[in-house]
Amino acid sequence: MVTMLLEIVTAEREVYSDDVEAVNAPGVEGDLGILPHHAPLMTSLQPGELMIRKDGRDEYLMVSGGFLEVMGNRVTILADACERSDEIDEQRAQEAMGRAQERIANRTADLDLEQAASAFRRAETRLRIARRRRTRAAPPPGA
Ligand code: ATP
Repeated sequence: MVTMLLEIVTAEREVYSDDVEAVNAPGVEGDLGILPHHAPLMTSLQPGELMIRKDGRDEYLMVSGGFLEVMGNRVTILADACERSDEIDEQRAQEAMGRAQERIANRTADLDLEQAASAFRRAETRLRIARRRRTRAAPPPGA
């Protein structure tokens, strides 16, 4: 199987390091699909879902922003924050979303709207990934 090396690091830890078949990342100018032997590339990421395909299975992670570089059949992501689906605390994301919604709804003159919208997007993405994992992990009805 044709693969490329994917490494994801944050300032705090190495989140992922393995050979993968495909990556789909939330680039600031749109979604980026990357397959092995992709041309060299460097771009910024926005908060969103990062899809990793390994052994024919898709895994989704939350990436809050950062940089992605493709160079010599290696993809490196320097993320501001990144969590695998089983690391996401749904309750915390729900609370973060509530705070962001409240800030946007009751906006004051000094509100940094871009920052609030970004916090909302981070929370929304975390919730979507965590819920999808939960529904997939659930046994079929009647089992
Ligand atoms: P909060 O307001 O709950 O801190 P945030 O969107 O401001 O959310 P970030 O700045 O994106 O948080 O991340 C700060 C750190 O907390 C990172 O290490 C990130 O991985 C972790 N983190 C944030 N929210 C969650 C969550 N719901 N579940 C697990 N880890 C989280």
